[in-house]
Amino acid sequence: MSMYDVEEIRSDFPILGRILPNGKPLVYFDNAATSQKPNAVIDAMSTYYKTYNSNAHRGAHTLADEATTALEDARESIAAFFGATPSNLIYTSGTTEAINLVAYAWARKNLAEGDAVVLTEMEHHADIVPWQELSKEIGIELRYVPLDLEKMSLDMEAYKHALPGAALVCVVHTSNVLGTRNPIEEIIALAKASGARTLIDAAQGASHERINFEELGADFVTLSAHKMAGPTGIGGLLIANDALAQCGPFLTGGQMIRSVSTDGSVYRDGAALLETGTPRIAEAIGWGAAIDWLSKIDFDQMHDHIKALAMMAYEGMREIDGITLYSDPSRPGSSGTISFLHERIASDDLAMLLNEGGIALRTGQHCAQPLMDALGVASTNRISLWLYNTEEEIQSFLTHLRMVCERFGA
Ligand code: PMP
Repeated sequence: MSMYDVEEIRSDFPILGRILPNGKPLVYFDNAATSQKPNAVIDAMSTYYKTYNSNAHRGAHTLADEATTALEDARESIAAFFGATPSNLIYTSGTTEAINLVAYAWARKNLAEGDAVVLTEMEHHADIVPWQELSKEIGIELRYVPLDLEKMSLDMEAYKHALPGAALVCVVHTSNVLGTRNPIEEIIALAKASGARTLIDAAQGASHERINFEELGADFVTLSAHKMAGPTGIGGLLIANDALAQCGPFLTGGQMIRSVSTDGSVYRDGAALLETGTPRIAEAIGWGAAIDWLSKIDFDQMHDHIKALAMMAYEGMREIDGITLYSDPSRPGSSGTISFLHERIASDDLAMLLNEGGIALRTGQHCAQPLMDALGVASTNRISLWLYNTEEEIQSFLTHLRMVCERFGA
């Protein structure tokens, strides 16, 4: 697509034409939770199940060959999209499993009592709880970088203070609550200079920005396919060669072994050590199709489109009495995620009232309780926009929000 044509993009997503039971057209603003899927993804998965469903890597028949080829072709396309080689991409169920994999297979083996892991208050629970568990198990120290509340960004001075002696830095690329895009290049450079490895949680980042693993230079990058047009149930870990060589096993059983006897087992090396059991075949094929589909999108144009919509929503919300905003989409690199609250309408009620207008948004603590604590709130309402949203949808959202606030927020 040379010009950004939102209607052409929308026509690839059958769900976007849905009329809800109350007669309202769907306005889908919950993309940070999961994105919708284009026909290319739905069809690729359906073709696999209808014509060559088979287990991969283990059969000597035509279907098994076809399934294995499709699984590995997908790995090649996905790795290439992220500037990585296929042997550096490990399929996981998503970001949550990818971070657990790093904690269990790499950190548990390579860190020891007293080693420090730097986290931030902006992390999703997926990038906090595995480290807390490991801390209980082996006594690592956790250091949390606080938020600069004025700027809704990380306090970089505090980061610099947390760094000396740290073995690993784990940072979210783009916040699922604030939409803030963190200065990950600077964070990685400082970590490298200080001898720490880096893990970038790109669950939100990968859907609005092209990420190049090799250029970025992080040791670990975690991905969730379902937030970038792919299916649920799959994502991945991009892992640097030397970190991969330091990994022990994660999940154990079939596929990751070279040989097993009643006396013990010998494991495979590299990525093969870290993928256990029947692979996520349909899901990998679906993710590969999503990547092929996304490859046709100009990400700069997409980013401009999302930013223009986010600014329109932000400016409109700023004028509504009683609304507090916790995001600033004018910040460079911000995603289309905006958190907000009404001072007199509870967030659950507001979401329910907007749902009556066909608007799908998220309410709650967004698996980011430390961030909620830092903001001093129990929850927020959150709209999260993506490449197929339109100006008309923003106008419809603002009209409903104004109406709800006038009627229930006085
Ligand atoms: N990190 C961030 C920033 C996220 O937004 C999410 C999903 N909400 C996750 C991690 C967890 O991803 P998943 O549920 O796909 O494993």
